[in-house]
Amino acid sequence: MTCARTVLWGVILAVAAAPSFAADDPGGAVSVYDGGAKTNPATWECTAGHTIRKHNLTIDSGAQSYMFAMSGCMDPSHGDQHPSSEGTFGMPTPTRANWYAGGFLQVLVNGVNATLYQTERTRVLETGDRGSFQTIWAHPDAEVGIRLLMLPGGNHVLVDLAWTPTTEGAIETLALSMTCYPSYFTTANQRVGDRHCQTPGADEAEPNTLELIPAEDTWLYYYDTVFDVERGEGDGPCALLMDNSVVDNGKVYIGGYAVRTVLNLKPEAGRMRLGLYDFAGLTNAQARDYLTEHADADLAELLSVDFRPLPVQQLDVAALTEEVTGLLADAREDGEILKPKVDGLLADVVDLQAKAADGDWDAEAQLSNVIRNSSDVLWKLRAFAVLNQ
Ligand SMILES: [Zn+2]
Repeated sequence: MTCARTVLWGVILAVAAAPSFAADDPGGAVSVYDGGAKTNPATWECTAGHTIRKHNLTIDSGAQSYMFAMSGCMDPSHGDQHPSSEGTFGMPTPTRANWYAGGFLQVLVNGVNATLYQTERTRVLETGDRGSFQTIWAHPDAEVGIRLLMLPGGNHVLVDLAWTPTTEGAIETLALSMTCYPSYFTTANQRVGDRHCQTPGADEAEPNTLELIPAEDTWLYYYDTVFDVERGEGDGPCALLMDNSVVDNGKVYIGGYAVRTVLNLKPEAGRMRLGLYDFAGLTNAQARDYLTEHADADLAELLSVDFRPLPVQQLDVAALTEEVTGLLADAREDGEILKPKVDGLLADVVDLQAKAADGDWDAEAQLSNVIRNSSDVLWKLRAFAVLNQ
């Protein structure tokens, strides 16, 4: 028995030392880094004396890395809103230009931006085989959630945006407003560029408004002919991929500085999928060639991808229960010690899975974490089962 115990702890230590799930695996194809929420005294973001909350998360596909920055003022004088002068949901890398670092996204529910509301419900969903995180905003008229996902080797971020009215009929209008500064901050640097927005069928230059054709416009390409990497100027262009079936109408306001895309969506659709590209380092021609060749395939992938975390997709509760029951029996008296923990784990999985299946994104994120974190206790149980046979 002593000998068996020594072997047992050897097995457990070996198992514990090995990366047991993807979150700990630095060799995973896609990594997600959660910088955590931090606060600082307001300077440019809001009134002096107020406190700003910032939360950055980075997804790295191995080929490209995107950071997302959420920020907002926590001062009670703003009520439920958390404003920040430059915006509340930004993309600081690969470049601060393109999809604007300070804030590029507004989700306008009945004309009021949902991204102004709380961002405490931010969670990493998966990291390893794929990488994603989500955040949920509690707008008074709708709960709005966003999931951002990268696939291994991907050059863009796949986005799932979902909205649920707080009461039936509460959402009268739903629009996205997205701001980019293609390739370079022209005006801030006292330079003049030549902004363009190109769609599959049109190309419009500044200063102008491009009216979108929802039936045809699945991608929008934003570039500047002056600030082209080919000419040794700027960072490279950017683009947007979209599920046009959800778009009622849209316009791109092409200014000499900011380029703003406004999409009026069908509120009843409940969700929309988007793709975000920052072509940092690419010439305009390279980015255009990429979109011409790959936008259709990227759209097909965007529309078919399952945004649920892989551990949730692969979960088979019946099989897990059966396996655990067998292992507990095989582990004999050692199994008895682990049984309360294992029973609690199974109860959590069943409860969270039911909520997730009902569309509860918080529960789905928790379920993903519970499954990933369960590997430790399951490895111990397997080791006990083997050694007690
Ligand atoms: Zn403030």
